[in-house]
Amino acid sequence: MWGLTNKKTLSLKAFNDYLSDRYLFHLHTFYTDGKLSVEDHFRFCTENGVQTLMFTEHVRKELKYSFRDFVAEIKACGKKYSEVNYLIGAEAKILPGGGLDIPEEILNDISLIAFACHGFPDNTNLWFDSFSKLFEDKRWKNYYRVYVHPGRFLQKRNWLEDHTPLLEKLIQKAISEGVYVEQNKREMLPPASIILPSDKSIVGFDIHRKEDFEKVLTYFQGR
Ligand SMILES: [Zn+2]
Ligand SMILES: [Zn+2]
Repeated sequence: MWGLTNKKTLSLKAFNDYLSDRYLFHLHTFYTDGKLSVEDHFRFCTENGVQTLMFTEHVRKELKYSFRDFVAEIKACGKKYSEVNYLIGAEAKILPGGGLDIPEEILNDISLIAFACHGFPDNTNLWFDSFSKLFEDKRWKNYYRVYVHPGRFLQKRNWLEDHTPLLEKLIQKAISEGVYVEQNKREMLPPASIILPSDKSIVGFDIHRKEDFEKVLTYFQGR
């Protein structure tokens, strides 16, 4: 049987088309730490003229929920709210050395991977080298790849100010490898001094709860 995602159809043109309209990227649901259902996201899109929804639920190698159920729910909603496009993705954390904490069994179900840093040794060189390897890794090149909340590793340790040039270098590396970079509106990362090229960046709100939708609306209204 074919996987749910036919990777051959992955097209950057299609992705850029999604990004040229209203979209919702970086969101969570009851399946992990969100307080919203899959349907809440679809409903928000329908009510607010958002064309595309990009799911980025947290995953780890040892999954505590059924990704299959999650996918089934998205597909059911996709039928019900047929005017909304959707992408099924996952937010996976980087491992020291450049690996990803992602379960093999979901790889055919997703078309997008959000690369995140959640918990990592306090070692800036290791952080930089691991991300560089991850961005280069051919294994993930058939997925839409996004480096999310860039600089969170530094910000959590109060190292952001000292290492902004290093973060900038890492972001350039991401872009040169075809990895999109998130403009994270929740943590305000990367810092404003780093300007992302508009055609290589993607706005994310890291939506967890209903109130986060208000921020999204304010953002849409300002554009
Ligand atoms: Zn995250
Ligand atoms: Zn997230």
